[in-house]
Amino acid sequence: MTPSLSPLRSHHVAVIGAGAAGLVAARELRREGHSVVVFERQKQVGGTWIYTDHVEPDPLSVDPTRPVVHSSVYATLRTNLPRECMGYRDFPFVVRSGDPRRFPSHAEVLAYLREFAKEFAIEEVIRFETAVERVAPAAEGGNGKWRVESTEKEKRVRRDEVYDAVVVCNGHYIEPRLAEIPGIRSWPGKEMHSHNYRIPEPFKDQVVVLIGNSASAVDISRDIAGHAKEVHVACRSNAADTFIKQPGYSNLWMHSMIERVDEDGSVVFQNGQTILVDVIMHCTGYKYHFPFLETNGSVTVDDNRVGPLYKDVFPPALAPYLSFIGIPWKVVPFPLFELQSKWIAGVLSGRIMLPSKEDMMKDIKSFYATLEAQGIPKRYTHRMGIAQFEYDDWLATQCGCPGTEEWRKVMYLTTGVRKRAKPETYRDEWEDHHLVSQAYQDFALYSY
Ligand code: FAD
Repeated sequence: MTPSLSPLRSHHVAVIGAGAAGLVAARELRREGHSVVVFERQKQVGGTWIYTDHVEPDPLSVDPTRPVVHSSVYATLRTNLPRECMGYRDFPFVVRSGDPRRFPSHAEVLAYLREFAKEFAIEEVIRFETAVERVAPAAEGGNGKWRVESTEKEKRVRRDEVYDAVVVCNGHYIEPRLAEIPGIRSWPGKEMHSHNYRIPEPFKDQVVVLIGNSASAVDISRDIAGHAKEVHVACRSNAADTFIKQPGYSNLWMHSMIERVDEDGSVVFQNGQTILVDVIMHCTGYKYHFPFLETNGSVTVDDNRVGPLYKDVFPPALAPYLSFIGIPWKVVPFPLFELQSKWIAGVLSGRIMLPSKEDMMKDIKSFYATLEAQGIPKRYTHRMGIAQFEYDDWLATQCGCPGTEEWRKVMYLTTGVRKRAKPETYRDEWEDHHLVSQAYQDFALYSY
């Protein structure tokens, strides 16, 4: 294990979740000399990468009392980023199990995360099958500490503990967002969310409409097209007259958004097409959800904006003792989680300074004003895309470590271009061999 730096201040920190974010948070906090307990309600590390055949009983996942199935991963899922780009910065995602592909299966990602946890002995601080039920300030008026209430093994063991700080790493792919569809209440077909999609066979001979233009909609539509009678993808960002047969398929069409659905089972698109449909699948993303968190209004979720958060991590009123990892999306997640974790660990120890609460609020307000001036809706507050690299480099500067490698940036961008141009083949055909070589030259620095 890497030796710990001697800390300025050591804290007792609760980390919620042992997915890719919680694992690297635990490592960085311990490296900085903090003591850590990771709460994980599943039986193993890996979060969303733990594939399961199980789905939730409510196919739309709207019933708040439903038993939650954490993973949104489907059987044929392969990564949408090349492994060199996707891995943590100092623990390269080289071949880990039986899948040597550059865009490997979910099982390979899980194997990688397990090895990461093993390499840094993180399991020794994880409480498995332990769900955090409530996180609230420990004292009226606040002394900065947090009360963490948890239940272990289906509520047989209850704990009520106080921690100096809490780092929230609970993942953001379980609480579905749904499209609003006029007439849906009396439409007789079946509705579901992609969170509950696993395999294409149940869609044999059916007519399926998927809503969305995310990676999931692109991949799942093609997965299902091999079995279904017809697959139609509806997307609100398409022009109203969009009606395009997808090349390479006899039964896959791209449309504009759904205008309405009717009692006879038909779906009417904005492009004027009317089709009798068996299933509508919402591939419309997820909502941030922190059901356990009580902050007396210091942190809210409003139209999918989690705020106010300084640099997507610290709520100024509660900083640095409450923080969030993994809020940004349209990013390369693992290296970003790693930098956020280093920053949180260093701020907690006092090695890295935060601005005053007033200055953090000013920064947040000016960021919101910029979004508004650009006409960007609130729900896109945490979407980064190309801006992620400036953000990563800002974090790296705070932490005193190198910024994002040039090859990683270019690889992300070229993969994006290939993915949009060739969704069927981008995972198996590429030209960026020189970037792969540069990545492996860097990886030689690490002995993993
Ligand atoms: P998660 O992996 O969701 O982990 C959160 C953990 O918190 C879980 O283990 C959960 O059990 C635990 N938890 C939640 N609430 C509680 C509680 N109250 N008490 C205790 N434990 C709790 N990223 C890529 O880099 N490449 C890809 O190709 C890619 N493809 C994706 C495909 C799909 C379908 C999805 C959904 C995501 C994909 N991602 C991809 C993004 C992926 O989510 C991130 O890579 C990353 O795994 C997120 O990690 P996380 O730790 O934030 O969340």
